[in-house]
Amino acid sequence: MAPKQRVAIVGAGVAGLVSIKSCLEEAGLEPTCFERHDKLGGVWNYSPELRPGQGPALYNSVVCNDSKEMMTFSDFPYPKENTPFMPHPMVLRHIQNYAKHFNLEKHIRFNTDVIDVQRNNDGKYWKLQIKDKDDKLSTEEFDYVMICTSAFNKAFTPSYPGMETFKGTTIHSNEYREPSKFRGKKVVVVGGSYSAGEISSEIARNGAEVYLSARHGFWILPRICKNGLPYDISLFSRSVVMSGPKLKAALEGACKTRINDHSKFGLQSKEIHSIDKGSMICDDMQDRLAQGQIKPMVGIKEFQQNDIIFKDGTTLENVDAVIFATGYSFVVPTIDDSWLYDESDKAEMYKYIFPARLEHPEKLALIKLLDIYGSHWPVAELQARVAVRVFAGHIVLPDKATMKRDIDKRIKYEKNKYYYIPPAPYMEELADMIGVRPSFWRLLLMDPKLAMAFKYGPMVPYWYRLEGPGAWPGARDRILNAIENTTYALKGYPSVNEGK
Ligand SMILES: Cc1cc2nc3c(=O)[nH]c(=O)nc-3n(C[C@H](O)[C@H](O)[C@H](O)COP(=O)(O)OP(=O)(O)OC[C@H]3O[C@@H](n4cnc5c(N)ncnc54)[C@H](O)[C@@H]3O)c2cc1C
Repeated sequence: MAPKQRVAIVGAGVAGLVSIKSCLEEAGLEPTCFERHDKLGGVWNYSPELRPGQGPALYNSVVCNDSKEMMTFSDFPYPKENTPFMPHPMVLRHIQNYAKHFNLEKHIRFNTDVIDVQRNNDGKYWKLQIKDKDDKLSTEEFDYVMICTSAFNKAFTPSYPGMETFKGTTIHSNEYREPSKFRGKKVVVVGGSYSAGEISSEIARNGAEVYLSARHGFWILPRICKNGLPYDISLFSRSVVMSGPKLKAALEGACKTRINDHSKFGLQSKEIHSIDKGSMICDDMQDRLAQGQIKPMVGIKEFQQNDIIFKDGTTLENVDAVIFATGYSFVVPTIDDSWLYDESDKAEMYKYIFPARLEHPEKLALIKLLDIYGSHWPVAELQARVAVRVFAGHIVLPDKATMKRDIDKRIKYEKNKYYYIPPAPYMEELADMIGVRPSFWRLLLMDPKLAMAFKYGPMVPYWYRLEGPGAWPGARDRILNAIENTTYALKGYPSVNEGK
């Protein structure tokens, strides 16, 4: 029997774990995952302080933005008892259970940092430089590499004139954990997205005077829609998510069910018309605004020693603290930038996975190093499944010219502006490559009930486990009961009929 091909996986977050599992599904691949921390789960490992080298981090009150049947492993669902929107410890427990169930942990080397990935044309293709917990350096050779170090790798803080003279505290949202130290303080939160919304309303509820500075304003998307269901399970049917304009209209409609006119709350500047320019999921925001605990501000113009001047000329005096909820930059520190970007900093990534500039793009895969609207997990899984099928030779990448044409067709994917894509059409493309894209007409012939769910039901990740490589026998049931399973945990009381 031919020796197994060795695959190095960098990072043991969700992307790394689905990559290990996908490798194990191919008989000829042997994964070794390197994780710089002492635990698996990546960002879902809450820590009271930032860990060395950590980019994104959770605050104590984080609750998922995606509901549980949309943000799931496609062949390992959450227990029915989990709430529709899960607090972060529930998510971490599930990730740990996934690793245990598929016996993934024995393939992970903890406390091991991958410093560098170099091509090595003698023998194995890649040479990894690795640092262990005693700072001892070593090198190891592999046939393939999967980089799973997250797109949100480096905290991004904008700079403003006078910032260096400011006497108050400034932190990035990845350092924020809980609200107590902001009680009684005058705080400016900068940003117009999820963390900005949740952090401002949490510190406002806990006694801070909060000013939320968002350059372009934002939409507020409620977690629960008018029909009592999570927005995503309710709105994200295939016909909606496959069309950009329909998806946008559905999301804006959901926002308007809570606040019909966002400009009444000072939330939309003239430039912001569509939801893709700025949105947050923050159920508490309109109450904090209405009660004057959060004041919306335009963008910052400059800092002074104690004050902040905004672009409309307003001066806020004696500011105690600024929290920058301004996101993360796209960096892939372990590999050479020239493998990814052309001279104009445009990334040449085939299917956002394979660096087409390399001589052998089929030997290196970037898993979930992109940003996506909606849950990240199903995309990471499909990318990992495609990558290992390429490694194993079931899928052959096209020639360079064809890859280039495919790349050029897509909207630009630039250095430091990681690419933000609507996921559904992209997921269907990946599913097609693996051979797991469901066909409506085939379903209509074979299983009309499922065909109706295909047309009108939510586009849950289980659809890509119905048939083909990696099929999971539980998929059909989970698809048909996706809504029931989402709300199951809410049925704590007997219904009126049951009570009689
Ligand atoms: C506050 C917050 C809320 C979020 N909410 C949601 C949500 O509701 N839904 C959703 O889908 N996503 C959410 N996310 C996004 C989250 O990042 C993804 O869900 C997903 O877990 C990312 O997984 P990952 O494996 O790509 O990255 P990570 O979880 O960041 O894992 C990367 C791993 O790589 C390791 N690593 C990095 N570099 C090296 C190296 N050189 N050598 C060895 N190891 C290395 C890191 O230690 C880490 O363990 C949220 C993120 C944050 C910060």
